[in-house]
Amino acid sequence: MFLKSLEIYGFKSFADKVNLEFSDGITSLLGPNGCGKSNIVDAIKWVLGEQSTKTLRAGRMEDVIFNGTDTRKPLQVAEVTLVISNEERHLGIEEAEVEIKRRIFRNGDSEYYLNRNRVLLKNIRELFYDTGVGKSAYSILEQGKIDQILSSKPEDRRYIFEEAAGISRFKVQSLEAERKLAKTDENILQVETILKEVK
Ligand code: ATP
Repeated sequence: MFLKSLEIYGFKSFADKVNLEFSDGITSLLGPNGCGKSNIVDAIKWVLGEQSTKTLRAGRMEDVIFNGTDTRKPLQVAEVTLVISNEERHLGIEEAEVEIKRRIFRNGDSEYYLNRNRVLLKNIRELFYDTGVGKSAYSILEQGKIDQILSSKPEDRRYIFEEAAGISRFKVQSLEAERKLAKTDENILQVETILKEVK
């Protein structure tokens, strides 16, 4: 599994459509300060479902849309499309390529697409559980992240091992099941109270 291509339009400094093709192996991004290297990494995090404006270095989520220059008007929409090679079917999808698209409009509305079908953020997250990819997994290690991991509390560091061991998916499912059980207990209690009242 590797990143095949990234198409960016209207995201941060990328007012024009840019298509980056990656091959298997190492890719380096080189350029002068402020040319947009980190914006490319932000675009990858964003399309994978990043919701934290702090992580994306933006005030509000709409700030990721190209906000204009002296010579160009601001855009109304930002769009990032990431294509991942899935030859070995590591992602639970039958196709050899997985295309994820995220779009945001100035009014804050956001859309996600998986292989050109409209989906929810939840579906994108589920796709990447236990793969090491995804918004808070270890596939993106920016400056300072290794220090942060090394100095974090063992229980906070544990999520990396859980992701690598392939149990993140089950943890999320178990939390969801616990929530449903708690809700069912609440409902049973309510029914019992009503039954007592009508007896
Ligand atoms: P460095 O090497 O200094 O870390 P960099 O190449 O990583 O720089 P970025 O941080 O990716 O640079 O890009 C910064 C540029 O992106 C700035 O010029 C900033 O004005 C521009 N930028 C950020 N958000 C937007 C936006 N919404 N609209 C237009 N330009 C933006």
